[in-house]
Amino acid sequence: MRALYLDKTLTLCEDYATPTPPPGEASVHVRLAGVCNTDLELVRGYMSFRGVPGHEFVGEVVQCDSAPEWIGQRVVGGDQCGVRSV
Ligand SMILES: [Zn+2]
Repeated sequence: MRALYLDKTLTLCEDYATPTPPPGEASVHVRLAGVCNTDLELVRGYMSFRGVPGHEFVGEVVQCDSAPEWIGQRVVGGDQCGVRSV
């Protein structure tokens, strides 16, 4: 899968490994993602973050072993709301 990876600089990875959700969590196919000030601060070095930034998104649940009824649900995640069905 494609992902922007931050390790001091942003790099577009065309072959980023598809993550497997731990128990109680879900995989979401992100349809739209936002860039907020926290993301910009991470790029500037805030908290020495390394990984895939981005926590504001709209997507669809594609895997959720502990609650398969969520599969296919459209969800949104953000600073104030966690992840909710929409
Ligand atoms: Zn944010």
